Amino acid sequence: RLKLPPADTRYRTEDVTATKGNEFEDYFLKRELLMGIYEKGFEKPSPIQEESIPIALTGSDILARAKNGTGKTAAFCIPALEKIDQNNNIIQVVILVPTRELALQTSQVCKELGKHLKIQVMVTTGGTSLKDDIMRLYQPVHLLVGTPGRILDLAKKGVCVLKDCSMLIMDEFCNDSFAFILQADKLLSPEFQPSIEQLIRFMPTTRQILMFSATFPVTVKDFKDRYLRKPYVINLMDELTLKGITQFYAFVEERQKVHCLNTLFSKLQINQSIIFCNSVNRVELLAKKITELGYSCFYIHAKMLQDHRNRVFHDFRNGACRNLVCTDLFTRGIDIQAVNVVINFDFPKNSETYLHRVGRSGRFGHLGLAVNLITYEDRFNLYKIEQELGTEIKQIPPFIDQAVY
Ligand code: AMP
Repeated sequence: RLKLPPADTRYRTEDVTATKGNEFEDYFLKRELLMGIYEKGFEKPSPIQEESIPIALTGSDILARAKNGTGKTAAFCIPALEKIDQNNNIIQVVILVPTRELALQTSQVCKELGKHLKIQVMVTTGGTSLKDDIMRLYQPVHLLVGTPGRILDLAKKGVCVLKDCSMLIMDEFCNDSFAFILQADKLLSPEFQPSIEQLIRFMPTTRQILMFSATFPVTVKDFKDRYLRKPYVINLMDELTLKGITQFYAFVEERQKVHCLNTLFSKLQINQSIIFCNSVNRVELLAKKITELGYSCFYIHAKMLQDHRNRVFHDFRNGACRNLVCTDLFTRGIDIQAVNVVINFDFPKNSETYLHRVGRSGRFGHLGLAVNLITYEDRFNLYKIEQELGTEIKQIPPFIDQAVY
């Protein structure tokens, strides 16, 4: 047995619990690859690896839904490294990612896992010298990791030859639950999709495609129907649930809402909160009012510039501020563990939006509180949403500060 380095602490143990009791040896991988896997400290395949490695090795297309942190990078790097013929000096695998950082991270994983193989990995992304990349491509490259635009540029110039590339991997083509906020990070966003489609035309028709994402929106379905052949679908994402979330409503008049929010702030044990409004204008106004009341607060909405949104969101996630006011930017529910209170300052129009605002994915199924400010006009909607989601939203008790959530 090889001496193992200490386990990676960023890896959550529940994700690595193999469900089928498989071992990496069961996949009949090259000895050198197995050595790399064990030396990286991986003892057993994680669930996403158990699902995808054997299927990918058969040559089948895969559409996998899995979150970051579940071992998904290795889930596609391992079969890619296994399939590469290191004696054939041509590009055999392309891994497309939306950002340079992700490209560097992914290539690092390939290099570490393939440490004992003689596989040449190259990273190429926009924002770096094209000339350097062209020069580099005169050397042997087996595996190319990069962003779609740059690889397409190189393919069009004829320096990056993809006619024998038998595997295309797309990672994070729809980013995590914050796909909306991080529009620019999605591989299937309008920014990337045309380049990807052109790139595919440089590859042989027999190519295998592996797609990994946290969400499967409509764009993915279109893409899948056009380019994937009978893909094996893996879904390891928990669905959104209202389980464990205490939901209350408070009847208020529109003009009492801010006062009511102030009362909630003073009574609730807020670790971090997200407060939803139904329009961009109302987000800005409310954020101003909350600040005037003396509470720290950030805001984001769809009309803010992408960079700005990303920055605010990341700062909030890192705990720089207690409250965040926003419009419906969250497409897959909130998975910030520190958020224990969600307030619908404006009640949502339909049950799907309600679930995305208030629901949590099972994995983070810890307790939380949702408070809905309901005006006279919202009363039917409240009833409708309760019915559609089969949930109960109770009237807020007078002693909310003593409620358990
Ligand atoms: P990822 O989801 O690819 O970002 O991986 C999350 C973390 O899990 C990384 O730090 C990996 O090194 C680690 N990891 C991936 N697969 C395994 C495994 N089978 N056993 C232990 N750690 C793993």
